[in-house]
Amino acid sequence: MAIESVAFIGLGAMGWHMAAHLPKAFSDVRVWNRTFSKAEQHAQLFSTTATSLEHAVQADVIFSCLPTSQQVEDIIAQAPPKAGSIWVDCTSGEPQSAQKLAQSLKARQVAYLDAPVSGQTIGAEKGTLTVMVGGDAEALAIASVAIQPFAGMIEYVGQSGAGFAVKAVNNILMAVNLWSLAEGMCNLKAQAVDLNAALKCINASSGQSGISHNIFAQRVLSQEFPLTFALNLLAKDAKIATDLASDSNTVMPVLQLTQQLLRSASNSLPQPSDFSSAVKLLEQWNQTQLS
Ligand code: NDP
Repeated sequence: MAIESVAFIGLGAMGWHMAAHLPKAFSDVRVWNRTFSKAEQHAQLFSTTATSLEHAVQADVIFSCLPTSQQVEDIIAQAPPKAGSIWVDCTSGEPQSAQKLAQSLKARQVAYLDAPVSGQTIGAEKGTLTVMVGGDAEALAIASVAIQPFAGMIEYVGQSGAGFAVKAVNNILMAVNLWSLAEGMCNLKAQAVDLNAALKCINASSGQSGISHNIFAQRVLSQEFPLTFALNLLAKDAKIATDLASDSNTVMPVLQLTQQLLRSASNSLPQPSDFSSAVKLLEQWNQTQLS
């Protein structure tokens, strides 16, 4: 099947940039956003077409990137896609929802792929996102050409829901790195160690991580906490990971505790806050500031 039209639903922090890459590969790129002025602005800036939801879902490939699976389910119920199309859901969603949507859309001859992304807003802007895909492998073979413009890597990880499962586990691992590095830094601060110098050492040693390289100095030690990925969304991802573990009786004490810590941080901080500001809870507990 040749893809002639693509649509993007949800021009948030991620979707805005992801959709901006699509005109490189397609001339018919439809965008829809709940706050419609954002879609109009997108069309002006990136030569996409701001359109109604009903028209957007008539495209050959429809992308969604919304906060949770609930919003995706609501949108699909409100505006079902046409037979023969492929729905590529880039939301960090729930595996059970992916399985449900894949089944119900199959009955309408629509393929549904759970295709969450990783790489933050900077990766979306550069078009270098990691895309982890669950669902119908044949549909992915067709849809890949539409995913490619914003991807650095596209990996098929298994049946429907597998993409969402991998994403949830990835994000809770990222949270472990953030929280544990913050704990270590509180410990070093109490020893009057220069935290920037300590981070330099860690980044050249075995305790390094994506968080230690790309987030900690830039967002925490700077005390800037710029909002690019909301803490409540990270807490949502952690809950998806621990719910999966509960369903399968998988024992994972560190990840369970991390999920609880994120929930506490998310409940206690103003909304929206950047995910990195979860460490503010630890700063409060230790009566310190990581700067
Ligand atoms: P944002 O909050 O920036 O954007 C959310 C988008 O969803 C907006 O376009 C918003 O529309 C729309 N939306 C919200 N509620 C509804 C609704 N009820 N009906 C229709 N549209 C709705 O989120 P992000 O872009 O940060 O995140 C999107 C997904 O990507 C999430 O699942 C997140 O976990 C994941 N993700 C985020 C990353 C990041 O760094 N930000 C990185 C990787 C994954 P409106 O403009 O009207 O508010």
